[in-house]
Amino acid sequence: MSRSVLVTGGNRGIGLAIARAFAEAGDKVAITYRSGEPPAGFLAVKCDITDSEQVEQAYKEIEEKHGPVEVLVANAGVTRDQLLMRMSEEDFTSVLETNLTGTFRVVKRANRAMLRARKGRVVLISSVVGLLGGAGQANYAASKAGLVGFARSLARELGSRNITVNVVAPGFVDTDMTRVLTDEQRESIVKQVPLARYAQPEEIAASVRFLASDEAAYITGAVIPVDGGLGMGH
Ligand code: NDP
Repeated sequence: MSRSVLVTGGNRGIGLAIARAFAEAGDKVAITYRSGEPPAGFLAVKCDITDSEQVEQAYKEIEEKHGPVEVLVANAGVTRDQLLMRMSEEDFTSVLETNLTGTFRVVKRANRAMLRARKGRVVLISSVVGLLGGAGQANYAASKAGLVGFARSLARELGSRNITVNVVAPGFVDTDMTRVLTDEQRESIVKQVPLARYAQPEEIAASVRFLASDEAAYITGAVIPVDGGLGMGH
């Protein structure tokens, strides 16, 4: 069964690993990218999720070429770390605008066809930081915690239509996002992780693919930690 899958921010990092995992399983995979050359092997649509018009255009192109989106992975996200004292309103709102409102935009647009089809899978990529908090990450943590309430509300709204909505909460993953950290910061993070290492993007992708599979048909409103034990108890 080849499904129409969309992975936002699927051009690099965790999103690319997720896109590859679905493609390997034989699905038709679309990814969004904002600039540069997107990776080959996918239907790449240019789309900034902060812009509703671009989201609409991206969906139109995907629907034309792959059919309505049956599996949506809302992965695109940004950080803009700063201690609260120095965090500007723009630092705060821009992160919320991408991570939370951007996710709202892509999920809302996918929902239409999923309701019609009476089936669908939505997976949101949150973060361990959404539940644990992170010094210097009040904006990011708020956006990622917001995704949990968003997903659980939708799980209630859409469950009777056979649409599941789940959250994957990764710990620290080796991507561009964490490569900006100093060696010292990385070491101190690893010390707090029971599995004593970073995750590889493919390890996040495996959980996402599971949540979109038939085996996960009875899982909705769940938050799956893939964090090496870092967030245990939350
Ligand atoms: P990267 O920084 O490597 O990639 C971020 C992706 O998001 C890129 O594809 C980027 O596109 C896309 N993106 C950002 N803003 C927008 C936007 N406005 N519109 C469309 N696409 C956008 O990050 P990761 O792969 O590490 O992170 C992926 C997700 O996983 C994020 O939501 C992140 O918060 C989350 N996460 C990451 C962790 C980690 O340790 N790395 C841990 C926990 C969660 P472009 O190439 O155009 O910039």
